[in-house]
Amino acid sequence: MTTRARIDIEGISVSPDHYIGGQRVSSPDTFETRCPFDWSRKLADMARGDASTADLAARAATAAFPAWAALSASERAACMHRLADLIEANVEKLALIECLDMGMLLESLRLRVILRGAANFRNYADLASGHEERVWSSRGTLNRVIRMPAGPALIITPWNAPFMLSTWKCAPALAAGNTVILKPADWSPLSASLLADLIDEAGFPAGVFNIVQGLGADLGNALVSDPRIKRISFTGSVPTARIIGRAAAENIVPFTAELGGKSALLVFADADLDAAAKKAAGQFDDSGQVCMAGTRIIVEESVAEAFLARFHRHVDQHVMGDSRDPATTMSALIHPVHVERVLGFIARARAAGDTIVRGGQLHQAGANWIEPTLILPRSNDSEVVQNEVFGPVLTFQTFRTEAEGIALANSTPYGLSGIVYTGCAQRAERVGRAVRGGTVWVNTFLVRDLTAPFGGIGISGIGREGGDYALDFHSDLKTLQILEGSVA
Ligand code: NAD
Repeated sequence: MTTRARIDIEGISVSPDHYIGGQRVSSPDTFETRCPFDWSRKLADMARGDASTADLAARAATAAFPAWAALSASERAACMHRLADLIEANVEKLALIECLDMGMLLESLRLRVILRGAANFRNYADLASGHEERVWSSRGTLNRVIRMPAGPALIITPWNAPFMLSTWKCAPALAAGNTVILKPADWSPLSASLLADLIDEAGFPAGVFNIVQGLGADLGNALVSDPRIKRISFTGSVPTARIIGRAAAENIVPFTAELGGKSALLVFADADLDAAAKKAAGQFDDSGQVCMAGTRIIVEESVAEAFLARFHRHVDQHVMGDSRDPATTMSALIHPVHVERVLGFIARARAAGDTIVRGGQLHQAGANWIEPTLILPRSNDSEVVQNEVFGPVLTFQTFRTEAEGIALANSTPYGLSGIVYTGCAQRAERVGRAVRGGTVWVNTFLVRDLTAPFGGIGISGIGREGGDYALDFHSDLKTLQILEGSVA
């Protein structure tokens, strides 16, 4: 169908349509997206893709694949660096759109998150073009490991960090020589539409980088089942990973899953208590809508009271409001449906006998904030300890010995990350190794090196992203062996 008119959002022009084969393409149906911190404000009606959209995108990505795969890594890198330049030149626009659509704090987007998107493309452009094949002699043969582009890659992202995650996940696929179909989540699709404009301006060949919008149940399902897709890289929830994993198994397609977390924030008596308490209160910044958030605060009993006093002081300073306002420190929850989901966890905790120490209710009727909530669980089996809430809800537990602290930290089926606060170097090493998680931070949080592996243990995921790990995932690895002395 013909494309829809672009929409003006605070002076920024946004297309409501998909971007397929280098062109804007529409769909008869739409879905709406609203502003989390001003829910009465509808931002856009976006084209809602279906099975025919999935087919069109798979066709475009398949047709563009041979030429993109045949380019050298440096030629592909040139395109990716141009895209990174454009992201940097459009930081203000991207930050404002992401803020309005997802609710994340504008300052943090302007100063860090959007620039990280540019860094994602640069990092993978450089990593792939600087790559040297591994070559060695053994058993009379010359061995060479070759990375071959795999084909069209499907990237599916969640609503909570749309721009950062889309760029983080698409960059290695493109650098490895794959074409890409990106499907962002329907609760926050707008920054991906701006990204499509920049892809076009950067001069990517048509069909190399496609973006389609829609719901998981129709568009998402059609994409993951398409046999032309050669890689599926998913970030989202555990239940969706199970569905997508089944589709990937059907087509024998490699699949990575970056899923939820229930990470511990483990505080020892020898730690800088104020720094630890401040970091714990900081878990409320995005209303807890961060997969790696340290949502289980576990503190050595002897300093529990001193820690809590400091924690409450820091939490008291949180300001809920318009995410564009620099005075705001705590963003709204994304959607009223999600608010209800989080309130459901709190109601069930209360009914089961957990103690709500603070918060536990809406900040203001009809708005998407829940007061920063701290819960003393009646036992470690409480639902609110064992399941990801993905909202501003932390639990508080204590331990007496290091072994007890580690056991509590490792007592959920998740294993995405962990945060440890201690002043002792040996303990940092010992506990850092013992806490179950793909990433464990000591005395800091969220600092990342893009070449390090990132991913989850247990139900927090399958596979690793970052550095060479993601390049390997997006490649068909081949070992070429030539009998030495047999060719001249
Ligand atoms: P979700 O699983 O509901 O949706 C994620 C994406 O999958 C969306 O784009 C959705 O449209 C799509 N989808 C849904 N059903 C599908 C289907 N049947 N087929 C194909 N696609 C389908 O997750 P969400 O609510 O958007 O995101 C929140 C979750 O993401 C939390 O659990 C959070 O911890 C997790 N997360 C993990 C990481 C990480 O790196 N580990 C990062 C951010 C968020």
